[in-house]
Amino acid sequence: MSSEPGDPFPRAGHDHAVCVREALDRAAALCAERGVKLTELRRRVLELVLERHAPVGAYDILERLAEERGRVAPPTVYRALDFLVSQGLVHRVDSRNAFVGCVRADGAHRACFLLCRECGAVAELVDPDLDAAVEALARRAGFEIGRQVIEIEGRCAACRALEAAA
Ligand SMILES: [Zn+2]
Ligand SMILES: [Zn+2]
Ligand SMILES: [Zn+2]
Repeated sequence: MSSEPGDPFPRAGHDHAVCVREALDRAAALCAERGVKLTELRRRVLELVLERHAPVGAYDILERLAEERGRVAPPTVYRALDFLVSQGLVHRVDSRNAFVGCVRADGAHRACFLLCRECGAVAELVDPDLDAAVEALARRAGFEIGRQVIEIEGRCAACRALEAAA
């Protein structure tokens, strides 16, 4: 997704339709490569998750789908989300009990997020050095890492700039 190099947050006013289209194309290509099915419903759920650069709750997705196609059974949506998470196309942000589209989605990787508590923006950091450091710490403790999501909460540069200007 579009952002300045070095700034993992999306640029204000970027063409988000392009982000979404690229992410959907990437998802389709990945699923084809892996021989798994990106069904129409899974694709639509992914699109709804990608709608904003902010975490989206399962309930919001359920509501949107119900508006579009009438009653939708919750397990259907949860299964679609599970699929997207298992394929690394979407990450779960536990502290928000919500989901966010992956900026990379090129295979298994560990997610690390900066979460702005003011505007709700989320940035995914992709840093092999960080992964290696965590891996080394865990190994030293004889610990096998299962699921790893690092969530760092604070204020984004845009919100800090707004405050400085006020
Ligand atoms: Zn975007
Ligand atoms: Zn990711
Ligand atoms: Zn912010």
